[in-house]
Amino acid sequence: MMTDSNLDQTQRPGVFKAAGRALIGRCPNCGQGKLFATYLKQVHHCAACNEQYSHIRPDDGAPWLTILVVGHIIVPLVLVVEMHYKIPMWTSIAAWSAITLALTFLTLPRAKGVILSFIWSTNAPGSERD
Ligand SMILES: [Zn+2]
Repeated sequence: MMTDSNLDQTQRPGVFKAAGRALIGRCPNCGQGKLFATYLKQVHHCAACNEQYSHIRPDDGAPWLTILVVGHIIVPLVLVVEMHYKIPMWTSIAAWSAITLALTFLTLPRAKGVILSFIWSTNAPGSERD
C-alpha cells in the first residue's frame, strides 16, 4: 500500500491503467481505495494512498461520455430489433426507455471515473488546483 500522496510523475500509473482502475470505481493512483463516496460524488482523497481528488472537476465530461456510449449501443439495437420484430408501440417505448435508463445509470459513474482519471493522469485543465 502506498502512503505518499506526493508521488512524482514517474511513479504514477499510465493513463490507460489509471482509467481502467477508475472504470471499476477504484483510485486511479493505487487501484485499492474507492473513487466515489456515493453514486457520483468522488472522494476527497483516497483512503489507501491519500491521493487528493476533490480539486478535480469532470463537469460535463461524464454526461457527454455517457451519451456517446449509451447512444452507440441503444440506437443500433433499436434499429435492428424494430426491423426484425413486430413489437406493439407501447411495449417498444416502455422497454427501450427502461433499457436506456438502466444503461445510463450503469454508465454514468464509470464515465465520470474515466474522465476524472484522464484529468488526474494528464494534469489537464479541469482541476481547481491550477
Ligand atoms: Zn489510492
